[in-house]
Amino acid sequence: MRKALIIGNWKMHKTVGEAVEFARALSVGLSGTDDRDVAIAPPFTALYALREALRGSTIALCAQDVHGEDQGPFTGEVSAPMLADVGCRYGLVGHSERRRHFGESNEQVNRKARALLRAGISPVVCVGESLEEREAGQTFSMVRRQLKEGLNNLSADDIRRTIVAYEPVWAIGTGKTASPGQAQEVHDFIRQFIGHRAGKEAAAEVRILYGGSVNPENAASLMAQKDIDGLLAGGASLEVDSFRKLIHS
Ligand code: PEP
Repeated sequence: MRKALIIGNWKMHKTVGEAVEFARALSVGLSGTDDRDVAIAPPFTALYALREALRGSTIALCAQDVHGEDQGPFTGEVSAPMLADVGCRYGLVGHSERRRHFGESNEQVNRKARALLRAGISPVVCVGESLEEREAGQTFSMVRRQLKEGLNNLSADDIRRTIVAYEPVWAIGTGKTASPGQAQEVHDFIRQFIGHRAGKEAAAEVRILYGGSVNPENAASLMAQKDIDGLLAGGASLEVDSFRKLIHS
């Protein structure tokens, strides 16, 4: 019932030329993937050129971040209406790198998610515990808090349009992946949270992605888990071949 979704997060990589070359090469090998959605999250600078390069393709665009206001004196920031204008269908909010390097709070994550929803873009709300929190047995309380505050004031309808990405911080860019069982346990917890918060139907509909050192070798066993509906990949999305393998996993 839930369509799989694979998002490649390029972080701060690729010039416009490199991004367009990648998109053209990826589009060529993408037949037979109608049963899944695919999106690329490039740096802001490549969004417009990618929209043009991807015309006629099923690959969607995802923003890596957004500001919580629609416009105003916020030098250096990009708003949700601007992202809608360049064709973004999805937008990441609360990626652990933004939380860690830029001090992003759950409250800001919530404002960003609401800004995206106002602009007709589906937020991808990233949650996940650090290694210390996991070792202290705080995984579920941490994820619950991120969800409670990150989804604050969202209606059940808003939540149905939202995607959650479970990304244990200790697995991002480290080469350590959560085992399929570890990931499934947290995904199940997230789905139950959504059920309490927005009802059974929303819980059945919301897509929950896994992210954290996903690669072509571990993708299929993660995707085989009941509550893992897709992948958010960083490093493995930077090369056409490995990203294509993730899409086909
Ligand atoms: C990410 O950027 O969201 C991510 C999961 O990165 P990586 O796949 O490189 O761990």
